[in-house]
Amino acid sequence: MQNAGQMASPTRRRRTPALLLLGTATALLLGGCAGRTQLVRAGAIEVITLRQSHNNAHVVRQGEAMFLVDAGLQRDAAALEERMRDAGIDPAKVRAVVVTHGHADHVGGASHFRSRYGARIIAGAGDRAMLAAGRHEAPLCPTDFLARQRLEQDQGQRYTPLQADVWVDSDPRETVALDLRPLTGVDARVIAMPGHTEGSLIVVAGTFALVGDLFRGSIPGWSATTHFYMCDLADNKRDLRELLEVHAKDATTFFPGHFGPIERASVEALAAEEPPGK
Ligand SMILES: [Zn+2]
Repeated sequence: MQNAGQMASPTRRRRTPALLLLGTATALLLGGCAGRTQLVRAGAIEVITLRQSHNNAHVVRQGEAMFLVDAGLQRDAAALEERMRDAGIDPAKVRAVVVTHGHADHVGGASHFRSRYGARIIAGAGDRAMLAAGRHEAPLCPTDFLARQRLEQDQGQRYTPLQADVWVDSDPRETVALDLRPLTGVDARVIAMPGHTEGSLIVVAGTFALVGDLFRGSIPGWSATTHFYMCDLADNKRDLRELLEVHAKDATTFFPGHFGPIERASVEALAAEEPPGK
C-alpha cells in the first residue's frame, strides 16, 4: 500500500496546489490502494484523506502537530485507526477531533480517539441535542435518487451519545469561531456554517477548506455537487457564496465529507447554479 509518507516528495512541495491535486490523483491511479488514502500539501499544511466505507476522515497536519476532521461511523473507528497507522500517522498524536456536524458518519468514531488517546472533541453547539441523543432526530431531506434509496438507513443511524469538550458557538456572524492553534498546534480555524445541520462547522487551514457536508464530491470525479441531504437548497447556495467570498476566499482546494477533493473553480460553478425549483 502506498502511504502518505511515500506520496509526499520534496519536488511536490514546490508545486502549485492544482498540480499537487493532479499529481496526487495520478499517484492514486497507480497505487494499489486507489481512493483509500491520499495526501495533499500546500506550504506547511498537509491534509491526509482517509476514506471509509462511503465517507472521509481527514488528518490536518503541520509538522508533528495534527488533528482530525470527522471520524466516520462508530463501528469503523478501529479500522480508521488502522488506516492512520498504515499511512504512518500515530493516532496518539491527534490532539483534537473537529466534528463538522452531528450525523453518525462524521461523529460516530470521535469518542474512540478521546477515550484511547485523550483527543478533545470539538463540535458545533447547534448540534448539542443531536450528540446527546446519538441519533438523527431532525428529518433528512434527500436531494437525489440515491439519497431517497438510502433515506431510511441513514435516518436511522445511531451512535453512543456524547458531549463535546469544546462547543463552538453556532452564531454564523462570527468570522472565526475558534482558533485551533492553541488547542492543536496547527494554524487553522473553525467557522460555524449552520445549514446542513444547526451546528455545522467548517475548518480552514492555509489554502485548504474542509467543509463537511456543505457540498459533496461527484461520483466519479472531482467536481462539487449538492449534498445527498439538504433541506433548504436556496440557503445552501447562499452559504456556498459566503464560503467563497468570506470564510475561504483564499482556499484553492476543498475537502468534503464524501468524495473529493475539489478545486475552487468547481465550487464556484456549483455556487453559481440556480437552486432546483427556481
Ligand atoms: Zn451529514
